This record gives sequence, structure tokens and C-alpha cells, in this order.
Amino acid sequence: MNRIFLIIPLYFFLISSINSQWNLKKMNFSKSDSLLGGSRPERNSWDIRRYDLKVEFFPESKSIQGVCNFWVNPIKPFKRIQIDLNEKMELDSIYFEDKKIEFVREKSVVWLDFNKEINQRIFFKCYFHGSPIVAKNAPWDGGFVWSKSNGKLWAGVACEGIGASVWWPCKDDSQDEPDSMSLSYKIPNGLVCIGNGKFMGSAVDLQGDKTTWNWQITYPINPYNVTFYIGDYIQIQDTFRMSNNSSLDLNYWVLRENEVIAKKHFAQVKPMLRIYEKLMGPYPFSNDGYSLVESPYLGMEHQSAIAYGNKFQRGYLGGRIPDDMNWDFIIIHESGHEYFGNSISAADHGDLWIHESFTTWLETYYVEKIYGKSKAVEYLNYQRPWIQNKEPLRGPYGVRFNGWSSSDIYYRGSWMIHTLRNGIKNDELFFSVLKKLFIQFGYKTVNSYELVSFFSKEFNMNLTPFFNQYLLNSKIPKLVYKVEKKGRNLVFQYHWENIRSDFSWPFALQIGKKRIPIEFSNEQKEIVLPFRRISRWDDSFLPLNTFLFEPIKISQ
Ligand SMILES: [Zn+2]
Repeated sequence: MNRIFLIIPLYFFLISSINSQWNLKKMNFSKSDSLLGGSRPERNSWDIRRYDLKVEFFPESKSIQGVCNFWVNPIKPFKRIQIDLNEKMELDSIYFEDKKIEFVREKSVVWLDFNKEINQRIFFKCYFHGSPIVAKNAPWDGGFVWSKSNGKLWAGVACEGIGASVWWPCKDDSQDEPDSMSLSYKIPNGLVCIGNGKFMGSAVDLQGDKTTWNWQITYPINPYNVTFYIGDYIQIQDTFRMSNNSSLDLNYWVLRENEVIAKKHFAQVKPMLRIYEKLMGPYPFSNDGYSLVESPYLGMEHQSAIAYGNKFQRGYLGGRIPDDMNWDFIIIHESGHEYFGNSISAADHGDLWIHESFTTWLETYYVEKIYGKSKAVEYLNYQRPWIQNKEPLRGPYGVRFNGWSSSDIYYRGSWMIHTLRNGIKNDELFFSVLKKLFIQFGYKTVNSYELVSFFSKEFNMNLTPFFNQYLLNSKIPKLVYKVEKKGRNLVFQYHWENIRSDFSWPFALQIGKKRIPIEFSNEQKEIVLPFRRISRWDDSFLPLNTFLFEPIKISQ
């Protein structure tokens, strides 16, 4: 898929450099990180249109072999391109126009030489084999998971951080997604192999001991979303009537022993889909269907084949939601990624906040719709302790960055979106803009600049200082204040810390019906309160539930 670059109006200041917040030198990026995350003519002179990936699995030796077919459109003429494959994997040969062609490997990169200028659509094949990295702590580190259930093989892959090239050769570049893809997985007989997209049938080999399972993806897909699951699965089928009256196939692939519990537990899928489609428009991958697949790791947003490993429990493995709520965190969160992450995808790994911040906010929106507004606020306050203020939400660009050390891109991000909604003070407008976001950016890759520019235009205000404040700083605004007697008056004395010089936002004390605006300033300010007794002061006059900041009360 060719990336659409928007022209950003000049009157919006571009987000400034973030090098002061990330100590890039200290982060010690390897050559592989920049080869995998950066842009160069060998990457941006071509557009990947389609892959056909065929893989045979050898569980006894934890290895695979396969071939990946590439369909490529030149953006400008090229002779040499970059494709990616992890150093642990062998690239056996590459065929172009029925002839073997030259390639050079450099760490996780393959430099491919065509020996002539390519200026029209081409097709080539890459044969590969090897033992992909085995994850130690999936889905957090990435790699294959070889597990067992009831004595039978149960396997899968999660590779969001490490990249799809950990197991198959591809253009492992966040900004370029293929428009479609086919998957053929050959596995030992007696098990089921699930991939993304639509099931296209299975066939037993002539030799009779292996079966090939075929899948078809008919939408653009992030390489890291391309996946497989092998296990003793049964399929539970259902359909969901979308609001445009078309029918969406729902498929739940669970281990045989979990059929009964899964049927009951997955009843929460339809109300969730209804809430999401009302907010953001139709489920984005309707031709490919919606699937949950029981996985030997906690979860991952694999497009149209979501990894589900929450063991049919409430919350996050039984916890992390208020006691009086009963919903499955993995279903609600990972399904939210079908919109933010899979339909609208970050063009650079440094912008993963686009996936996680919005999706974590979607959890609060789901709670609002199921349990009501006050419960949503309760849930937001439940998310709050996970804000660690350790790092900017936006990571460095141009490297395959996977160095998040906190959960800030989730929880600080969720509160940032919540703050934005409250600052806009017009839910109808806020929600209509979210819907428009999917009309404009659905099935595309996008970066922070484009998103901030879009919101600025739609909300008719310059939101760059707002987003800069939360995306580029490690810390959130800190309001340092005291309430004290001054003569006959009672005053609220304050100053702000951790704010950028251009930051401002509608922020006020709410005292009964009275709104008293507070300025954003590093300098000491004071305002006279509309009462005189110190005992009347109440911390809840501060907008604690609608704006992300840290109040610090100092004693007199
Ligand atoms: Zn997520």
C-alpha cells in the first residue's frame, strides 16, 4: 500500500524535536535497529502490493521452511531494494523472472540486486528456512511460542516489537502495508492451523501426514499482524448484524475442552462491536470476518484473528478492573486495535502511542456505554496508578524502537484523549471527528504530525501545544498550590511545573456553579477565592477527573 502523505498546513507549528527527552546516544541503537526502522531509497522507491506466504512447520525441531512471493510496484525506478529477514533465519534463494538473482545479507537486512532498472510491476520469490527466535515472555518480547495443551501441540507467534521479519522475509517497514495477502500453512495432520482473514479450505498432502490450511486477507495489513495458531481447535461460528445491515462472520477458535465456557464468555463480543461501530464506524475488516483465537500467550491484536489468552476470566487475568465490573480486558482492548492499530496504523514504530493510547481510552468508553459515565470516571481513576511518567509517549523515529520502559503509552495516553475530549467540551463534535478520522485515515498508516494536524483542523484550534505537552514530555503538568489567608481574603496561590512554554488549556476551579479560570504559568500566581473560611476549601474544586495533571498541595 502506498502511503498517502498529507500536506500539513504551515500555520500549524510542527511538533518539535524530541531528542532532548530521549537520550538517543545512551539508548545505543544497533545498526539493525536503524536498518529495520529507517527510510532509504532501497525502501521507499517501491510499494508492496501483495505477499503470498507459504510455510511448512516442523514442530519436533521447532523450525519452518517456506517461500514468500512479493508483488511490487515501483514508486520510482530502482535497481536495488531492501527486504528484511532476521539473522537467525536462512535465506536460501531469490527468484526473479525464473532466474536466481543476487542478494547480500547485512544483519537483518537483505540487499537485493536486480541488475537492471525496474520501472514496472514485478514479482519475485524468496525461499527461506530456519528456527525462528523462541519468545521467553510472549507477547512482550516477541518470537514463536511452542506450547502444549492436553499433550497436543499449541503454537503461535507474537512479534509486534521485534517485527514480522523474525520469521518470514518481508518489507518490515511500518509505513508500507500490502493491500492483500494469502497464507498457506502446512502442519502435521490432526491439528488445526488458523491464520488471518478468510478460511479458504484445507487439503491433506498426497503423502498423507500433513495438511495445508489456506487463508486469504483482503485488506491492508501490518506485517507484525500476520500470524498463525496451531492447536487442537474447534470453531464456534456466529454472525453479527452490522448497523449497515450487512452480516459479519464471527469465529471463535478455542481449544476443544473450552467450547462450553467460550460460548458463554464470548457473549460480550456483540455488544462491544455495537459500541465500537457506533463510535468509529463499521468494523473495518468485514469481508475477512472477526475472530478470537485462543493463544498460548496473553493476547495480541492480530488483524481479524485476535490472539485471546485471558483464560475466560474477567479483567486482566482476573484483576485490573473494579470489583463490580465484569468484562474481559483482552477482548475489549485487542478488539479496539482493529480500529486503532490495524485500520489506522502508525507509520513509524515511534508512534505506537497511536495504537495504544486510543485503544486504552476505548476501554473507558466501553465502560461508559455499559456501566454509565460515573463508572467510566471510576475506571479512568483505576488506570491512573499505571501512569508512571517515565518517558515521552512518542518514541524516536527512524529506528525499530522497542524500548518502552513503562506503560505510559497506554495509560497516560488514555488520560490524554480523555483530557482532549473534556477540553473540546462538545461530545457530539468529538465523536463525529473520531468517525471522520476513520473515513480519512482508515486502512492507512499515519504519523503524529498528520494526526495532530487533522485534529487541529477539525476542532478548529491549534492542538500542537496540547499534544506536544503530553507526547514529548516525560512528565505531566504539575500544579503546586496552597490556600491561605491574605488580609480579609482567602487566596489560591499557585504555579505550574513541567509545562511547555506554549501550553495552555481550559482549566478552572469549579466552586459550586462558579468557574474560576487558572492560567498556565511557571510564575507564582494568586486568585481570591469567593469565600473566606479556609475550612471551606475542598480539593474537589480542582478538575481532577477531567484533566491530566498532578496536584501538589503545599502546607501553609
Ligand atoms: Zn494494545
